[in-house]
Amino acid sequence: MDEKFAELYSEHIKQMKASAIREICNLIAKPEIISLAGGWPDPATFPVEEAREILADILDHHWQYALQYGTTEGLPALREFIAQWAKQHEHIDITADQILLTTGSTQGMDLAGKTLINPGDLICVGLPSYFIGAFTIYGAQVIGIPVDENGMQIDILETRLKELHEQHQRIKLVYIQPNFQNPTGATLAMERRTKIIQLADQYNFMIVEDNPYGDINFEGHALPALKALDRSERVIYLRSFSKVFSPGIRLAWVAGEAHVIRKMAIAKQYVDACSCTLSQYLMYEFCKRGYLERQIQKNILFYRAKRDFMLQALERYFPSGVRWNRPKGGFFIFVRLPEYLDAGEILEEAVANNVAFISGAPFYVDGTGCNTMRLSYAQSSNTEIEQAIRVIGQIIRQRLKP
Ligand SMILES: *Cc1c(COP(=O)(O)O)cnc(C)c1O
Repeated sequence: MDEKFAELYSEHIKQMKASAIREICNLIAKPEIISLAGGWPDPATFPVEEAREILADILDHHWQYALQYGTTEGLPALREFIAQWAKQHEHIDITADQILLTTGSTQGMDLAGKTLINPGDLICVGLPSYFIGAFTIYGAQVIGIPVDENGMQIDILETRLKELHEQHQRIKLVYIQPNFQNPTGATLAMERRTKIIQLADQYNFMIVEDNPYGDINFEGHALPALKALDRSERVIYLRSFSKVFSPGIRLAWVAGEAHVIRKMAIAKQYVDACSCTLSQYLMYEFCKRGYLERQIQKNILFYRAKRDFMLQALERYFPSGVRWNRPKGGFFIFVRLPEYLDAGEILEEAVANNVAFISGAPFYVDGTGCNTMRLSYAQSSNTEIEQAIRVIGQIIRQRLKP
């Protein structure tokens, strides 16, 4: 289709493709559809009362600042709080000037891409992995590293690094979600965490560690963030308030080596000058009043019950021969069908029956994964989850070869 202004478009925008996942979400935004597709938090978890109280106070007492531009780095008091919080809860040794507040981690990733990627640079991501085009729009070439139930297979990463080294090539960065990865729900095993840090030093690459679900941890204990193991400041650590507070406030933070953060802040000046000031005041007061801890505990109970419910429904309605994981946190269960089944076709039939999920294929940079699907238990009620799993289970059963 010829577009009216096609000849005026930049080369840059021609590189950008709409996120397959967001497109599916648009497609299925009909009210009658039960959707296990979106990775969106349940609005029932949004701290509405606390937000109302805090926003009223801000508009009474701090409106001159909260409605004004702020510094690009972000509200100093909130960055100070985050530095303390990261020390206390995650044993991450950072100061406030190593923290940049961003307009969601989506922006943090983009700024990391802007700061580090030249056209042709090689990067690694999980196979599968949620992966918005943050690095490819700057010309990165993506290598997929297989993910199993213990996260990215770091021994395979090591083999690739060695091979490339012998060909005088190198990996610039690895994008990884160690906790409850989107889409597989997998958690990176401890020995893999220490190993990737060691490899980063040995082969001189950066790690972009994305940890949006870290707080939604069902098991009580957490493995250390890569950032906490990082002695040579190779890790750019992305944390978001989207899943723990609400995505609509568009607020996240990124921590890293001071010069890298400084470069990212300069890049941010060109993009939006500063993140939403009102959101920053809201979040700061939310933390200062001690609501964050309570909110985290509430979310854990809420999503754990939903995970358990979906697991039971899967046991009940999915035929044998279909495999899935038991996530220790986050929003997702990842289903592996027999190789000959196509989750895309199953999705079409499911949508015709008013049920939706995300087929796994868009998460595989190598074009495989057609027999996988991502189910989110985050956003639907138990009744809806049961209904959806029953419908999907039936469709799979009809397509199974005896
Ligand atoms: C939800 C999510 C985020 C958070 O993105 P925001 O821009 O902060 O809303 C980051 N990474 C992954 C993999 C996610 O699923």
